[in-house]
Amino acid sequence: RYVKTVDQILRIMNNIEQIRNVGIIAHVDHGKTTTTDSLLAAAGIISPRLAGQVLAMDFLDVEQRRQMTVKAANISLYHEYEGKPYVINLVDTPGHVDFTGKVTRSLRMIDGAIVVVDAVEGVMTQTETVLRQALEERVRPLLFINKIDRLIKELRLKPDEIKQRFIEIIKEVNNLIETYADPEFKKKWILDPSQGMVAFGSAKDAIGITVPMSRKKGIKIDDIIEAYSSGDKEAIEELKKKIPLHEALLDMVVRFVPNPKEAQMYRIPKIWKGDISTDLGKALMEVDPDGPLVFFVCDMRWDPHAGFVATGRIFSGTLYSGQEVYLVNSKAVQKVLQVGLYMGPYREVVDRIPAGNIAAVLGPDLARSGETIVDLKIKDVIVPFERMRYISEPVVTMAIEPKKTTDLTKLMDALKKMSIEDPNLIVKINEETGEYLVSGMGHLHLEIVLTLLKERFGLEVETSPPTVVYRETARDRSQIFEGKSPNKHNRLYISIEPMNEDTIRLIQQGIVTEDMDPHKRAKILRDEAGWDYDEARRIWAIDENINVFIDKTSGIQYLREVRDTIIQGFRLAMREGPLAAEPVRGLKVILHDAVIHEDPAHRGPAQIYPAVRNPIFAAILTARPTLLEPIQKLEIKFPMDYLGPISSVITKRRGRILNVVHMVGNLVKMLAEVPVAESIDLANELRGASAGKAFWGTEFSRWAPVPDSMLLDIVKKIRQRKGLKPEPPRPEDFLSP
Ligand code: GDP
Repeated sequence: RYVKTVDQILRIMNNIEQIRNVGIIAHVDHGKTTTTDSLLAAAGIISPRLAGQVLAMDFLDVEQRRQMTVKAANISLYHEYEGKPYVINLVDTPGHVDFTGKVTRSLRMIDGAIVVVDAVEGVMTQTETVLRQALEERVRPLLFINKIDRLIKELRLKPDEIKQRFIEIIKEVNNLIETYADPEFKKKWILDPSQGMVAFGSAKDAIGITVPMSRKKGIKIDDIIEAYSSGDKEAIEELKKKIPLHEALLDMVVRFVPNPKEAQMYRIPKIWKGDISTDLGKALMEVDPDGPLVFFVCDMRWDPHAGFVATGRIFSGTLYSGQEVYLVNSKAVQKVLQVGLYMGPYREVVDRIPAGNIAAVLGPDLARSGETIVDLKIKDVIVPFERMRYISEPVVTMAIEPKKTTDLTKLMDALKKMSIEDPNLIVKINEETGEYLVSGMGHLHLEIVLTLLKERFGLEVETSPPTVVYRETARDRSQIFEGKSPNKHNRLYISIEPMNEDTIRLIQQGIVTEDMDPHKRAKILRDEAGWDYDEARRIWAIDENINVFIDKTSGIQYLREVRDTIIQGFRLAMREGPLAAEPVRGLKVILHDAVIHEDPAHRGPAQIYPAVRNPIFAAILTARPTLLEPIQKLEIKFPMDYLGPISSVITKRRGRILNVVHMVGNLVKMLAEVPVAESIDLANELRGASAGKAFWGTEFSRWAPVPDSMLLDIVKKIRQRKGLKPEPPRPEDFLSP
């Protein structure tokens, strides 16, 4: 075990050829945590200050149980290869793709990824989706086939069958590389085991080997198979010493993952939207430590001893304490109070860190994950890596209050911290009742929040039953409706229509945004979502629930003066739709004509808001309105014998079985969709139906219209819960007399 001082690490960090930024991609349960732990244990950099302390990355038990490990944002490892020292930054990459952009964000931090695949289960959906995205972002993949002991101990495969299994898995991964990697990298990146681009082993036993290692050390796969099939503990101990996993993996990383200088040259043009021919573009591509500071924040976390810690990658320039910086998305100037590097999972304070490295920063606490932090001198020209995204789509809400009223401030504090660390967690105060409304991605997510409140903050809380969040939308194009202001001096003529899926996706992914250049936006909408260019050019606003306001009028007097008021009226209207006061989603709102009063006193918000809202609501209610409900995707693995009972759990809950595939042995994998509304207690039922043998993961899948037969019922229930009269309004209620 190496013990390195901060100075030694810093010296290596100044030498860009000796840096590697990598991540681990794995389907849940395939061994990411075990692999990381074994790297940390064997090759960890232990700061003198912390030597002797137990290194534990998963400080929260509960999260382990939930298969959602909370990890350090980054772990820096020290490794020597052919006598040369390297610092390997291992950035935490989430296991599954969601709408929060967290995966994309973490992929920007890394230049290579170790894909961990369970030898028994092979490539699974999460491996595939994340790997695919990694390839699209030009992250170079390497493969670790894990849990090979299972092939022997559980499946009792013969050596030939085991090798066949390896070939199959490599082929599966290579197929993905073939399909999704840029043509210029394909040839180089296709995994060639004979060169050492694939490791085989057992993370649990910290054993790993590659072909070159096998040649060098005179140990063959057959020796490993032999050790496991005979259950020879001593032989396994021997292997741990001779072919330690960290050596297999870190050698691979040093040899095949490009250093930041090689990587940024071809990655910047892909992951940064600015002009690469400018000085700034060049500094980014060349990882220039003397260039302007560009620091991309991947992770924002609360540390009780230090406050908010921003972890990210320095793409150019140098970070130092005392530096004044500009936060591009927050539009704020803040000061860097402290700069830290990672030693293992811990942060150590240093004076400065140069480009190419991962750094942790205290001071810019207005930053959120995804923020780009830059030198003041480029504040007006910088194109950020990411625009603040509109969308986090929490689908379940619950009210919470502390058991002890004296804990109220403590609860407020804890929730604030948690919602900054976890952008999927939305916290609001219900003004009327004074309770906190906490929204998350599913029932499980909220359960974890409650456990964290208890374990991390010592807070006991009371909760309401969780309620599912819906969206309102319309399925037809409406006619044009007139909206009159209460004083009858202003009139707006408005229609609505549903937007196509392509448009919704472009907005959701932040490719089309409200504040982008209108011509560029119109071009994207025309080319990628079939919009009429002229209509696309007339977009006034895009709200957070993916609705677009379009001005199709021309030459209306005073319209310019009330433009902002109209936009605000549109936003407010879409926040609480006509059916059940749930947010409206996916509509184009089109202004066709208008009459605006000349006197500003007669065209204030109190006049304009209703004139915007009423025609929109009337239009929605005439255009086959409906509710959209969140649908969850489930991936369930279980022994074949339970296919019947598990299928009936799914279908009973309005679920749909999409696919059942045979895996290995008698294991099958089922892909299914179930509405979130039907998934309360799903966990218990699945466990019951399979005698505890089923394993599963869930992911938000999409919004889908509720069945027509249930629409009115659901609408009434939501309205009653909100204290509205149960019957939804009629279009006439919004028409001017
Ligand atoms: P993660 O969800 O990808 O982080 O997976 P974990 O590292 O938590 O591993 C999931 C389960 O697989 C745990 O119960 C581990 O003990 C187990 N596991 C990890 N590596 C191996 C291995 O090499 N062999 C076997 N048999 N089990 C392993």
